Amino acid sequence: MSIDSDALIDWYGETARDLPWRRPEVTAWQILMSEIMLQQTPVVRVEPVWREWVARWPVPSAMAAASQGEVLRAWGKLGYPRRALRLHECARVLATEHGDVVPDDVDVLLGLPGIGAYTARAVACFAYGQRVPVVDTNVRRVVARAVHGRAEAGNPATRDLADTEALLPARVDRAARFSAALMELGATVCTARNPDCSRCPLPTCAWVTAGRPASDIVRRTQKYDGTDRQARGRLLDVLRAAPGPVERVALDLAWTRDPGQRARALDSLLLDGLIEQTRDGLFALAGEGGAS
Ligand code: SF4
Repeated sequence: MSIDSDALIDWYGETARDLPWRRPEVTAWQILMSEIMLQQTPVVRVEPVWREWVARWPVPSAMAAASQGEVLRAWGKLGYPRRALRLHECARVLATEHGDVVPDDVDVLLGLPGIGAYTARAVACFAYGQRVPVVDTNVRRVVARAVHGRAEAGNPATRDLADTEALLPARVDRAARFSAALMELGATVCTARNPDCSRCPLPTCAWVTAGRPASDIVRRTQKYDGTDRQARGRLLDVLRAAPGPVERVALDLAWTRDPGQRARALDSLLLDGLIEQTRDGLFALAGEGGAS
């Protein structure tokens, strides 16, 4: 089964959310920033930070001139802060090696720090209107249901790209719009837990036709409370809020429930390059400890 691209694109034209990074005046660099932020963080939390970043760092060289610590502070509570450091590194490479412009070629994009298969194609498609398959979790889910009749997509596979590319309309401008629409459908209607099929623009869907067979995938509930990730977040909060390096005791007080876990979190932050230690044993955000 295929996907009715006309129906999907029409629906997108009528119902797409008015997200700021979709406006025509937005540059490829600003789209790249949004894509990095949106990978693991919901739209509602990304939007205010993205607006701030666009105003503060409108071009890659502006971000490249900032310190790692500034970027980590500005990242705030978006989570998975290694993304911020990678984007900072990417900005530096764009400023020094690409004339302060985000390339439009997927292979060149893939060579940039922190840019993976999804982001490279998302930029090529959404910023430059190219006909390339853009495959994220939402797209994989819609394709699994509408085309293959499965309740869920299962693990990512190399065939996902070819699978999605086969669905793209031949016309380049239609293909880019189709990709955006497919993602939108997965994000707003064909959601993981409660697909709202009554609002779906697709006239046929293999999963519905098959009688909505149940998923054979066992879901793992991701808890956050008490995890190493939460401990890392608390330690980073202390450093973000401090005007300069802090003593170890300030970090100890930020996570008192498990000293072993706290030590693990601290080690991993150091290892990831998100924080550093000063010569006199204090702790600081990356680039703010005077170690380099
Ligand atoms: S009919 Fe339902 S399951 Fe099928 S693509 Fe539409 S929303 Fe998803």
